[in-house]
Amino acid sequence: MDDLLIHGGEIIDGTGAAARRADVAVTDGRIVEIGDCTGREATTVIDALGQVVAPGFIDIHTHSDFTLPLNPMAESKIRQGVTTEVVGNCGYSTAPVLPGKADNLKDFLAAGAPWLSFRETTFSEYLDTFPQTSVNTVMQVGHATLRLMTMGMDDRVPTTQEMAGMERLLEEALDAGALGMSCGLFTAPGNYANIDELVSLARVLQRRGATYASHVRDEANHVLEAIDEAISIGETTGVRVQIAHIKLSGLDNWGRTDELLGRIGAAKERGVDVHCDQYPYTAGTNPLRNLLPLWVQAGGIEAMLERLGDTEAIERMREDIQRDGLTNFGRVSSWDAVRIAITPSQPEIAGMTIDEVASERECDPLQAACEVLLADKGHTRIVVTSMSEDDVQEILRSPMVMVGSDGNSLAIHGITSQGKPHPRFYGTFARVLGHYVRELGILSLPLAVHKMTGGSADALRMQDRGKLLEGNWADITVFDPDQIGEMASYDDPHQYAKGISTVIVNGKVVIDGGEHTGALPGKVLRRGAQGVA
Ligand SMILES: [Zn+2]
Repeated sequence: MDDLLIHGGEIIDGTGAAARRADVAVTDGRIVEIGDCTGREATTVIDALGQVVAPGFIDIHTHSDFTLPLNPMAESKIRQGVTTEVVGNCGYSTAPVLPGKADNLKDFLAAGAPWLSFRETTFSEYLDTFPQTSVNTVMQVGHATLRLMTMGMDDRVPTTQEMAGMERLLEEALDAGALGMSCGLFTAPGNYANIDELVSLARVLQRRGATYASHVRDEANHVLEAIDEAISIGETTGVRVQIAHIKLSGLDNWGRTDELLGRIGAAKERGVDVHCDQYPYTAGTNPLRNLLPLWVQAGGIEAMLERLGDTEAIERMREDIQRDGLTNFGRVSSWDAVRIAITPSQPEIAGMTIDEVASERECDPLQAACEVLLADKGHTRIVVTSMSEDDVQEILRSPMVMVGSDGNSLAIHGITSQGKPHPRFYGTFARVLGHYVRELGILSLPLAVHKMTGGSADALRMQDRGKLLEGNWADITVFDPDQIGEMASYDDPHQYAKGISTVIVNGKVVIDGGEHTGALPGKVLRRGAQGVA
């Protein structure tokens, strides 16, 4: 007697192969047979006639470590068919926290994790005590977190002793089972790191078979040099590289996808172990402070707040922005492209653009941005439209680019339902399968599924997930290819995706008939000698 039998669906196995009709039998959390299962009996039988049966989606780039402790049912993700989330990205991880440093980290991460509490912990204790959740998690340690713990917000080269301190914390995290280290070189303190610091840490990663994941130094006017830096770290040290949310940001950089993808493809051909991911939207989301010139944040939050109220500093910001565009995002049409997502102190302006706030307050937009930031003590989060739809589609078509939401697990109720977060938190996977595959036809369904399952599993060196194979863990998503779609929008983001009927994690049904069963069967997956398991 099997635990589960999924009957009569179209199997898309995650390898990129075409759909085929087959049944799937599951026992003790694993797939035991794929084929004609006539004659097998099971406790639960799921009728998948007319639906696609795919591996559970792997969200290869997320920040759900900020919200899973508050929303363990992982609703905005599991309801898109996501069964595994890779967290601790862009240099930010919520562990390790050394004695006396919890408040520093909380202050630093509040623009991403305003509701989370922080406590002193080793990385290993963090993994052991991570709450039970509906999805599997793969953890990374953040370079910015390591730097904060070791040398605060200092803009300088680490001393030999500090370098050794960071390496020791990194080794501890890797021994505990972290996939690797992420960095966020676009903002302080990640951008204070020079290439020698990164190479030293990458050598530690390489020795352990771990991954170097990079939010590169620049995604706008110097994006190609930034991609080159990530590739060169892979080439110099032999470490596996994951380039996060690749994009061409800022009006001056649109249309350069051939160069962008060409560099990554050429590196792969030279044997560099480099992978990348993308979220399928023309807007990004970030703390508002990261759009200002980098010098504004030097010295930490207090120093920044002082500058935000200083007329001379604001004039200098204005000149820098006029010349170079917004930091990280390049030149945008106007401050109308920047919309407030989450503001802890002024919820009434969430959803308004900076231009709208400025005209309401009868001041100029930069002044308004500084005021909003000041009131929020630097913790305002925004959504900024800075990419071209043509580029987004061109990148999405590429088989070498995986799908990652760069979003958090949220819910339409409770503390994570506040503000106007980026719709990608709720819609990424459903948008690819509904809008781009079915409506626009720019990529095939088996390729799209591969980019969110088997391809990601390969990039993560995940041995027994990501593909529908006998013996693999039963992480399975059943969806209607004619119905699947994103419901979230920029104006109304807190809406679950549609068209996903059943989601199974480690053999347990989490979404049943489109509804959450409350099950929390997710595991913290650890990197070992054989990869992530
Ligand atoms: Zn990032």
